[in-house]
Amino acid sequence: MGQFTLRFRPYTLEMRHVFTVASFSRTTTPVILTELEYDGIVGYGEASMPPYLGESQESVSKFLNQINLSHFQSPFETAEILAYVDQVAEKNTAAKAAVDIALHDLLGKIMNQPFYKIWGLNPDLIPPTSYTIGIDTEEMIRKKVAEADQFKILKVKLGLDTDKTIIDTIRSVTDVPLCADVNQGWKNKEEALEMAHWLHERNVVFLEQPMPKEMIDENAWLTEHSPIPTIADEGCQRLADVPKLQGVYTGINIKLMKCTGMREAKQMAELARSLDMKVMLGCMTETSCAISAAAQLAPLVDWADLDGALLIGNDIYDGMRVEEGNCILPDRPGIGILKK
Ligand code: MG
Repeated sequence: MGQFTLRFRPYTLEMRHVFTVASFSRTTTPVILTELEYDGIVGYGEASMPPYLGESQESVSKFLNQINLSHFQSPFETAEILAYVDQVAEKNTAAKAAVDIALHDLLGKIMNQPFYKIWGLNPDLIPPTSYTIGIDTEEMIRKKVAEADQFKILKVKLGLDTDKTIIDTIRSVTDVPLCADVNQGWKNKEEALEMAHWLHERNVVFLEQPMPKEMIDENAWLTEHSPIPTIADEGCQRLADVPKLQGVYTGINIKLMKCTGMREAKQMAELARSLDMKVMLGCMTETSCAISAAAQLAPLVDWADLDGALLIGNDIYDGMRVEEGNCILPDRPGIGILKK
């Protein structure tokens, strides 16, 4: 009978550009890289901790140090293992994802199949990924948009008083469809609706988290009247949130780091679908480890926003590639990554 060994180490992702959204700017992102070994086979995982979400290398290390898998016999006790990990402490969703991803990678390697195949998902159904243009000067925005010419959809960060200038600047150089992530930056529903119409006229195809997540009635009112779909990001963390958001937003943005990993992410996508809601699959700034893990379930979603590894300069894995804006999954077992 095998034994589990969980190893982890901190790593700092260097951003290619200073990354600015409505509430903050940063140039690095702390992560923890995990390895889960069983019977000589090693699965890789990752926790990414953008500072505004409350987890850190310290909190993730503390959480992972409490994990004791010695009472499990096999990685195929997946549901039980992940239920145990989830109850070790509240929250800590990125830390939990670091275990979940490594476990899925390990399982896929034991079965010698990529996880999307184990799930029976068709990789041809993965939507093209968007690529994020952060808030910046007009000159830098034009430069970033020019650099992003392979992408079929761009994601624009809005929510400051420069929203219209940013869109006009992008529209002066490209007609590619856009999606707008307001990161809770708008505070007034009538102004938000006016912006939704203005953006719709400029081929913005959906709005992510237009107003603060606490403004439930206002977000529902906007969703009812908006000419384009609204998507909950900050307002949607885990599976239990999904039914409460029906009618408040058109859809949800699922991220492994918010929802504890691949297993719950797939459950969320399927539940949202059954409730007739749209599904977006997003990411944090992450290496190709967490990105390739998320990509395994990307055939299930309407929109993919899996550019996290493209925004960093020191990725240590090869995994999901982006070609002509399309997500290409490696035909390798588990989440399909190799150390560079
Ligand atoms: Mg967002």
